[in-house]
Amino acid sequence: PPDHAELDYPQLLDTAMAAARREAGRGHVAGYIPALASEDPEAFGMALATVDGEVFGVGDWERPFSVQSISKLFSLALVLAAGGDGLWSGVGREPSGTPFNSLVQLETEHGIPRNPFINAGALVVTDRLQSLTGDAAAHVLDFLRTEAGNPAIAVDAAVAASEAEHGHRNAALAHFIASHGNLHNEVDDVLREYFAHCSIAASCRDLALAGRFLARHGLRADGSRMLSRSEAKRINAVMLTCGTYDAAGEFAFRVGLPAKSGVGGGVLAVLPGRAALCAWSPALDRAGNSVAAVAALDAFTTASGLSVF
Ligand code: GLN
Repeated sequence: PPDHAELDYPQLLDTAMAAARREAGRGHVAGYIPALASEDPEAFGMALATVDGEVFGVGDWERPFSVQSISKLFSLALVLAAGGDGLWSGVGREPSGTPFNSLVQLETEHGIPRNPFINAGALVVTDRLQSLTGDAAAHVLDFLRTEAGNPAIAVDAAVAASEAEHGHRNAALAHFIASHGNLHNEVDDVLREYFAHCSIAASCRDLALAGRFLARHGLRADGSRMLSRSEAKRINAVMLTCGTYDAAGEFAFRVGLPAKSGVGGGVLAVLPGRAALCAWSPALDRAGNSVAAVAALDAFTTASGLSVF
């Protein structure tokens, strides 16, 4: 791959934004809760944070949006950082091939979700983080604020309330998992913490900075070791295979980077050893991934020649 110095990141981001703009009108903003449905479908932003702390951005890269399932990446990392390896007996590492909120596999797999990035798996991760820390969502929030250097990052209370009000499917998942003894906390507490971390509002800039520990093989912004190289590699691997739900194959095919998406329209991707990137645009495809953000990342890796392959 080309050297850092040879890459013109601002120009690559402009190329990516131009590709995103060509997707205007495609996809639909998440409508499963009213609090998200009012987003402008054509908003777009993208940021790149290098391993040594330089940050570049285009479009609405400093505008906060609902991080949703991108938070699942941070809750997983925080469980592993707190020594919660036992997590892997309660959640698998295989792509599900079913939508992110599906219930079907839980019955045949005895309450052990396929991976930590579908809702069922993320509920187990939140449960373990709750056991380890006593306040799972506050830990996710604190991590984001510290890594991004932005104390203004916060839980959007209206989104969290909307999640709870329309949360029957997540509640069904959590109760089913609990029926198999795979939740250690009260279902209501797990759901509250899960909805809270999904409802954090942060920008592309914030998320690119907060995702750098995965590009830095487990090192936090202050240089302290959060995860072993092996744990960081594993999280990147699960992102590549499961981070964009049942479109992970298509995403690897087009973009070729470990990534985690959310129904708020964000996609956080990792260039190991080099940078973390976040693209955002609210209109989603059928799998729940942002149409324009995926197009932007596709254009970025194609134009730069950078990917994990
Ligand atoms: N809060 C959303 C949910 O639980 C997160 C889903 C997502 O971003 N894919 O349905």
